[in-house]
Amino acid sequence: MSETVLKDAHGRVMDYLRLAITDRCNLRCVYCMPEDDNEPAHIMSFPRIERIIRVAGSLGVKKLKITGGEPLVHPEVTQIIRLAKNSSQIANVTLTTNGLLLATLAADLIDAGLDAVNVSLDTLDPARFEALTRRDYLPRVLAGLSRVLDKPGKLSVKVNCVPTASSPIKDLMSLAALAKDHDLHVRFIELMPIGLGKGQERLDPEILQKELAQAFGPLTPVSRTLGNGPATYYALEGFKGRIGFINAVKSCFCDRCNRIRITADGCFKTCLHMDRGLFLPLDDEAAMARAMIEAVYKKPLSHSFTKEAEAADERIMSRIGG
Ligand code: SAM
Ligand code: SF4
Repeated sequence: MSETVLKDAHGRVMDYLRLAITDRCNLRCVYCMPEDDNEPAHIMSFPRIERIIRVAGSLGVKKLKITGGEPLVHPEVTQIIRLAKNSSQIANVTLTTNGLLLATLAADLIDAGLDAVNVSLDTLDPARFEALTRRDYLPRVLAGLSRVLDKPGKLSVKVNCVPTASSPIKDLMSLAALAKDHDLHVRFIELMPIGLGKGQERLDPEILQKELAQAFGPLTPVSRTLGNGPATYYALEGFKGRIGFINAVKSCFCDRCNRIRITADGCFKTCLHMDRGLFLPLDDEAAMARAMIEAVYKKPLSHSFTKEAEAADERIMSRIGG
């Protein structure tokens, strides 16, 4: 019997689920979340997460990214990772976090079987960190990062930075240098015009590439895929890790999109941008599977970052999960 898969009308197969387990966060990054977020909080319950993982696995999802809001504020995050790792279908379980609670939770997450962690960090400068996140917590994030770098075992670590036109180049070079000195990859994610990101000016990734080459020498493209995503990676001489770019605006990679998303309030999104999504029947596994199959078939061909689009999702990024 052939495996059931989530396939759209354009032949793309969805095997990567980004599941937002809460939309709460302990930072307030200026391009992601307002200082006062008066919307009701959503923290997805464990039984619902269990059903989602079972259904997604049965439909061919092999990679699961736990996201949020900030996923580490979910009281059962470790149990969720363990549950996903125990699923026979899901091969790869990863997490994206702002790192604030990582020092406390790293050992348990590693013990639960987490395969990789992405730490979102836009600057190593304390004053700028506070301006960007509206919180004075850089030392805690750095403590979390060093805890996962000290890990015993095979946890893969990436640092994700979203530069804007106002990011000092010196700051971005210091972040890139983390991959020189440590066993981690640094990725620069182009700011997307979603939610509060619409109010910020993005930095052209070409400018950043030139600055990196000037500071560290030539960037040599790396053909081997690292991780689950659309990043393009480069090797730099003397660097332990790679430098990656995810340029969703400048170079659209929708033709090879394999992603689906579920928000913390149970909304199924087949496109980060061009899809408001539909509420899944989270308590009925057969109905959930049917809803996913039907929605994926109608997955939009592409985002529409360069023009106003009626079907675009108006949600802020902390409620989508990135
Ligand atoms: N709180 C966790 C974190 O920061 O990693 C998980 C959720 S956060 C929404 C996921 C990712 O989305 C982060 O790396 C963040 O920098 C990124 N992000 C938020 N708003 C964005 C935007 N407008 N454009 C590009 N990336 C964005
Ligand atoms: Fe929170 Fe992550 Fe959004 Fe920053 S990017 S406000 S850490 S959800």
